[in-house]
Amino acid sequence: MTTENTAIILIHYSEIGLKGKNRGFFEDRLKQNIRQTLVDLGEVYVKNDYGRFILEFDNAAHLPVIVERLQKTPGIAYFNVAWAGNTDVDILKEQVLEKIRDYTFSSFCINTRRADKQYPLNSVQVNQIVGGHVFDALHKKVDLTNPDLTCTIEIFNKKIYYTFEKIQGLRGLPVGSSGKVVAMLSSGIDSPVAAWRMILRGCKVIFVHFHSFPFTEKTSYYNARILAQKLTVYQNHSLVYFVPLAKIQEAIILKVPSKLRIIMYRRMMYRIAELIARRESAKAIVTGESLGQVASQTLENITAIAEVVSMPVLRPLIGFDKEEIIAQAQKLGTFQTSIEPYDDCCSYLLPKSPETKAKIEEVHEAEARIDNWQELVNEALKEVEIETLRFPEQGSAVVI
Ligand code: ATP
Ligand code: MG
Repeated sequence: MTTENTAIILIHYSEIGLKGKNRGFFEDRLKQNIRQTLVDLGEVYVKNDYGRFILEFDNAAHLPVIVERLQKTPGIAYFNVAWAGNTDVDILKEQVLEKIRDYTFSSFCINTRRADKQYPLNSVQVNQIVGGHVFDALHKKVDLTNPDLTCTIEIFNKKIYYTFEKIQGLRGLPVGSSGKVVAMLSSGIDSPVAAWRMILRGCKVIFVHFHSFPFTEKTSYYNARILAQKLTVYQNHSLVYFVPLAKIQEAIILKVPSKLRIIMYRRMMYRIAELIARRESAKAIVTGESLGQVASQTLENITAIAEVVSMPVLRPLIGFDKEEIIAQAQKLGTFQTSIEPYDDCCSYLLPKSPETKAKIEEVHEAEARIDNWQELVNEALKEVEIETLRFPEQGSAVVI
């Protein structure tokens, strides 16, 4: 299927920690994810090749979009767009010259790697023949230590590939290789970044968004959906739970002193998130909390909130500064959506001076005043709306 002048892609993944059985599992998952993210782009073949993958595809016009999608596939360390070359070095040198003309550079080097010892020329000879030909034609400087452009020629299994660029991937682990988690997704800046960090660590993320409709507009709901869609590009398939919190908030507002309200909202959210996680066989809850960032994120308040769940709560941003989180949100492309104004369910009737050092007895006492909270939690769960998002949209869901 690979003919000369057809681009292929050599995909390298990070090998650290990949031993024994773990390796096969990791490779299979990454291959499946790559196929899934390219599912709408015609025939695509992904094959193992000595610790990396070779990706072949039928339609050359798809190359730019394939590159873009691979750059958003967790588990890929880097990849090269390569061309199949002729095994006759006199034809090969013409092919390399033709392609190298597409690049702007003033110095270059040819770096041949010969795994196939049957090949009649050694790597130094190939470097000299191809490099000499490029030099004669273009009069560009040969620089072996710090060239502007390196052409790597690989000779293996009676095949030759040549490549010019190394494109960085996201690294991390393939989605699904670390299991499932539930991420609490507000429509703010932090939680999409937190969810993304877990996607990069190989988690399949299920999103849970709490909204206060009809107390507030549905803006946070729509913004959360847009954010979930942006994150779905990295994991191809997402479930989003939209949970109505209005009735629970109403009960809290009636019975709980205003300074403890946020803590109480969060306790209910955590409980609901844990119930959803159990239903989905997810093993942890993810939040965008960052220590000391806002009143509810002191150690005392984090303790008062998290004591209601028994599942691990993962807070990938706990030690990050706001500036660092914003920089990540910009890179990820969620920042603009996150700063759109919205009625946050927790800014609804927000107290002027929320508690920063919650005393656990006071929290328990306040919560005991809402005698029907369990019923309200169950009711909210019954009223959830669940949406499935896919990327690419035509893709069939790989449900993990
Ligand atoms: P974010 O930028 O993620 O909203 P924040 O700095 O505004 O975070 P809080 O509003 O205190 O902090 O929220 C802490 C965490 O609680 C959020 O990162 C998110 O994981 C979760 N959370 C808050 N509000 C909601 C909501 N409406 N729906 C789902 N999760 C929420
Ligand atoms: Mg918020």
